[in-house]
Amino acid sequence: MKLYNSLSHRKEEFVPNEPGKVKMYTCGPTVYHFAHIGNLRSYIMEDVLEKYLRYSGYDVKRVMNITDVGHLSSDADTGEDKMLKGAKREHKTVMEIAKYYTDAFFADCAKLNIKTPDVVQPATGCIDDFIKVISKLLDTGYAYIAGGNVYFDTSKLERYYVFQDFDQEDLAVGVRDDVEADQNKRNKADFVLWFTKSKFEDQALKWDSPWGVGYPGWHIECSCISMKYLGEYLDIHCGGIDNAFPHHTNEIAQSEAYLGHKWCNYWFHVHHLNTNHGKMSKSSGEFLTVSLLEEKGYDPLAYRLFCLQSHYRKTLVFSYENLDNAAKAYRKLVDKIAALDPKDATPVDAEAETALREKFRAALDNDLNTALAVTSLYDVLKAKTSDSTKLAMLGEIDSVLGLGLLPAAEKVRAAKPKAAAGQTEAVFGEGDPEIDALVLQRQQARKEKNWAEADRIRDELTSMGITLVDTKEGVHWSRS
Ligand code: AMP
Ligand code: ZN
Repeated sequence: MKLYNSLSHRKEEFVPNEPGKVKMYTCGPTVYHFAHIGNLRSYIMEDVLEKYLRYSGYDVKRVMNITDVGHLSSDADTGEDKMLKGAKREHKTVMEIAKYYTDAFFADCAKLNIKTPDVVQPATGCIDDFIKVISKLLDTGYAYIAGGNVYFDTSKLERYYVFQDFDQEDLAVGVRDDVEADQNKRNKADFVLWFTKSKFEDQALKWDSPWGVGYPGWHIECSCISMKYLGEYLDIHCGGIDNAFPHHTNEIAQSEAYLGHKWCNYWFHVHHLNTNHGKMSKSSGEFLTVSLLEEKGYDPLAYRLFCLQSHYRKTLVFSYENLDNAAKAYRKLVDKIAALDPKDATPVDAEAETALREKFRAALDNDLNTALAVTSLYDVLKAKTSDSTKLAMLGEIDSVLGLGLLPAAEKVRAAKPKAAAGQTEAVFGEGDPEIDALVLQRQQARKEKNWAEADRIRDELTSMGITLVDTKEGVHWSRS
C-alpha cells in the first residue's frame, strides 16, 4: 500500500517496522465539548485506514488518548484552559465534563461505525509517565526550568520544523500580535512540558511533581501514551492537519530527544472539513454535530459516505446540498442492495470476486482513495454475476468502508414484505426506502380498516418531519 507521508511530503510504500504488525496512534478528542463533524471526518478516515490495514492482513494495535487536561485554547501554550472553559460554561467539574463528552464522543463514533481503538487512555491517568519522561529530558539537557514551568528547548535539536521548512520567524510563537509572549521561553518555539505557574488560579486538576504542584502541557501526553502502549517504535501516527504544527512537531521533538532515535515512520494527516466561512472549530462555537444532523433527518452513515466520497488530503467543504446528495446516494445504494436476493444459493463466483476485489484494493492501495473505492460498490451491483456473489463482495468491501450497507438493506427488506402484501397503491416521495415502507404499511392498515394503526403510522411519520398527501394516484410524502 502506498501512503502519503507528511514527513517526506510524498507517497511511500507502507512497510511496518515488524512484518505483519502495525502500531498506530491517533490523537484523541479534547473532551470539553461535543465533537463536531469536522473532527469526526478525521476519525472516519483514520478508521478506514485501520480497517483496510486489518483487511490487508496486518495485526493492528491502535491507541488513542483522551485530552482531559492541559490543552489551552491556543495550541501554543496560550489562552484559556479548554477543560476549565467547558466546566465553567456548564457549571460542572472538569472531571464531570470529561466523562460526559468522552461518552458523547464514543456514542457519535458508534453511530458513524468508527471502531473504538484497542487502547483508549485519558491523559489524567498517566501523570507518572509524563513525569518520568520530563525528568529524563531535564537530565539530558533537552528541557529547562524557567519561572516555575518546565520547557522543552527546541534549540537543542538539529531540525525542529520537521513537516515543513517553515520560516522560523513566520511561525514563531509569541510574535503574533494577539498572543502574549512568554518571557520564560529561551526560544520562541519552545513549549511547556509541565506548568506549575498557571495563570488560572482556579486550575482544577493539579498533581505533585519534582518541580512543584502543577499539570502537564498538552503535547507530552501523546508521546508518553504512545510509548507506554506501543513501545519505542511507532508505525503510523494520525491526526487532523491542524495537529501537524505545533502538536505533532512537538511530539516528535520530545519523543526523539527522549528515545535517542527516530520514533514514528509515517504521519497520516486528514485535511479539514470547512464551512463556507472557513474551518469548522469547537472553540468558535459554530459547529455541527452528529445529533444535529440526526435531528434534521440525516442518517449518520450518509455523512460517512459524504466523507468517503472525497480524498482525505483535500479540504472538504460542507453544505447541506452536498450532504443531501450523499444521503440520496446512500439510500439508493441501500435500496439496490435490498433488491438482491439474500436467499440466492448459487455458489459464489470466485473469478468475478477476484476482478471486483482487485479494483477495490487498487483504489485503497493508492493513498487510501476512498472515493474510488466507493465506486467499486457500484461495479459490484452492475456486475454480471449472481446475487450471492454480489452480496459476498459488498459485505467484504463494506467491512472496510463501514457504511453499514448490508444491515441497512436487511432493514428495508424486513419492512417491505408486510406492506407489499396486497399492496397496489403507489408511493411518491424522495426515494427513502424506509419512509416508503412506512407509508405502504399505513396504506395497508387503511385497507384493512385498521384506522388506529393507520393513524399511529401517520403520527410516527409526522414526528419524523414527514408530511403525507393522499391523492387518487397514491400517496405523496415530503420532508417538512
Ligand atoms: P480536538 O478535539 O480539537 O483535539 O480535535 C480532534 C481531532 O479533530 C484532531 O485530530 C484534529 O486535528 C481534528 N480536527 C479539528 N478540526 C477539524 C476539522 N475542521 N476538520 C477535520 N479534522 C479536524
Ligand atoms: Zn496528540
